[in-house]
Amino acid sequence: MLTEVNKDKTVLIIDDSPINIEHLAQVLKSDYGIKVANSGELGIEVARSQRPDLILLDIVMPNMDGYEVCRRLKADDVTRKIPIIFITTKNEIEDETRGLSLGAVDYITKPFRTPIVKARVRTHIQLKHNSDLLEKLALIDALTNLPNRRRFEQILKREWARCRRSQASISIILIDIDHFKQFNDHYGHLAGDRCLSRVARALPIPLKRPADSIFRYGGEEFIAVLPETDHTVAVNLAEEMRAQVGKLLIPHTHSETSHPYISISLGVATATPNARSTPTTLVQLADKLLYAAKNAGRNCVRGQVYNSDTDFYHKTADA
Ligand code: GH3
Ligand code: MG
Ligand code: MG
Repeated sequence: MLTEVNKDKTVLIIDDSPINIEHLAQVLKSDYGIKVANSGELGIEVARSQRPDLILLDIVMPNMDGYEVCRRLKADDVTRKIPIIFITTKNEIEDETRGLSLGAVDYITKPFRTPIVKARVRTHIQLKHNSDLLEKLALIDALTNLPNRRRFEQILKREWARCRRSQASISIILIDIDHFKQFNDHYGHLAGDRCLSRVARALPIPLKRPADSIFRYGGEEFIAVLPETDHTVAVNLAEEMRAQVGKLLIPHTHSETSHPYISISLGVATATPNARSTPTTLVQLADKLLYAAKNAGRNCVRGQVYNSDTDFYHKTADA
């Protein structure tokens, strides 16, 4: 298992001494891909562009020492999470403490022993692998394999900011399965779970652009984020989603809608982000529209473009 994990992992060695680089590379090259840099400046560049899985960092180097390299790598979002092990002749307690307080995960003093270097590198690569995996799993819904609500919040925030910079419109579609409580009551919870998985596979079918994404928002609710998408296109996509779910022909004889199959209601909200609107206002509008679709008899789409003047006053009047 460990060797499996290691195979595609890369270690970056930053050291000004060619002999040290050669020595460390010899020790590690049978287990990892090796990148090298003979100065701190170059090391930072390589770390940013190659994103290695671990960095072995010398402390005493001309121009920029290892402490400064470590500080800069930890201050940069791109390289912040790469584990750093200092490898150095400095062996005073203060040196080690300083290295660790800058965010390094470990500290190995020279002359080093080969098995120790191998073991420590392996441990930290494995820990990094595990934490990456946990981070990924924390953003995925286990039943449908769609990204979850936490991921939705991240993506909407990011795309909102991007559309605000480019003054493009952004649309979201909030989707809710109709009379799903009755479905669970009559067909059982397991059948309900299977139905959710099938709907989750059908919903993304109309989405063609790489930037479009769909999430499990809550129980039987899903939400799509469509950056740089105007309202008409978004409403058409919502209609296509509704048709895709209809085509599944999942029997729901207790659905109380016009046909005895599983259907969905959808609320489509579009905005051009500005100083007076936030991602939350867009979600609130989509929620209101979903509610309107439910009131209109379900199995339908309701949409609206957000207007920061009128919708602001609406909200105040409702409150
Ligand atoms: P409406 O048409 O107004 O949306 O009615 P509804 O019955 O779909 O809405 P309601 O919010 O009353 O019920 C939602 C149901 O979804 C209740 C809950 O048991 C079910 N549900 C939520 N999450 C899951 C899940 O993970 N698995 C299953 N099987 N059911 C779920
Ligand atoms: Mg619901
Ligand atoms: Mg529902």
